[in-house]
Parts: sequence; structure tokens; C-alpha cells
Amino acid sequence: MTIFSKIVRGEIPSYRCAENEEFYAFLDINPVTRGHVLVIPKREVDYFFDLSDEELGRMMSFTKRVAAAIKQVFPCKKVGVAVMGLDVNHAHVHLAPLQSEMDMDFGKKKLQLPAEEMQQIAADIASAFGRQ
Ligand code: AMP
Repeated sequence: MTIFSKIVRGEIPSYRCAENEEFYAFLDINPVTRGHVLVIPKREVDYFFDLSDEELGRMMSFTKRVAAAIKQVFPCKKVGVAVMGLDVNHAHVHLAPLQSEMDMDFGKKKLQLPAEEMQQIAADIASAFGRQ
């Protein structure tokens, strides 16, 4: 089982931002920016492009709503989107508020935010998501 499946099952804690029956959004534990969120299918699939067309469509609709919530909490030029999956073999989309392209440089040193700040960010995004 992947670490993200354990998160979905509640066996590993996460900073929950949004969810529905099929998808789950939570803060990246090593964020590139404040408001860096991962969106995953609850179903365990490794490679993003192995998701069916229909599932990808529903995942992107959900991801779009999460991005809107992030943008409300962290006003930015755009919410950037990236798919890599080189470290965790469970399909996921990275979302991060962007002021410049450097904000989505995954090679740079990641932020380490205190748990209270992570909790507050997740709560703010969850609240913005819920208001939509
Ligand atoms: P990649 O598979 O290359 O797209 O990167 C996996 C991402 O998952 C990285 O940005 C990690 O910081 C993030 N990550 C790994 N474990 C956790 C976790 N337990 N909670 C939140 N994010 C995680």
C-alpha cells in the first residue's frame, strides 16, 4: 500500500484541505510555497496517465475547485499545476500559488513550516473550498 493510501485511510496523519468520494486534497509536507497542495485519487493508481479519461476528467474538475480555494487564501498570479510522481507511486497533482516561476522550482530547498501554521493553512483552504 502507498503512503498516500495510508493517508486516505487515516493511518498516517495529513493536513486535509478537501475531499469527495473519489479524491483527497492535503498539504504537501515539504512545500515549495505556502499553500502547496497535493490532490490524489483515493483509488490506488501509480501513474497519473493510467487513470481513465473519465476519472482524469473528474479529478481535474475537483482539482480546479481546490485551486480556486488556494487562490482565495493565497492571492497569486496563477495556481501552478505539476505532475511528477517520481517519489511516491500514487498518482497526484501538485498545486502551488505562483508569483513567479521560481515558486514551482522543485529543486530548491523546501519550506519547513510549524505544525500550527500547516494546520491553519489547511483549515483556511478547507473553509474556502467549502464556501464554493
Ligand atoms: P513526487 O512523487 O516527485 O511528485 O513527490 C512526492 C511529493 O509528496 C513530495 O513533494 C513530498 O514532499 C510529498 N509527500 C511525501 N510524503 C508526504 C506526506 N506524508 N504528506 C504530505 N506530502 C508528502
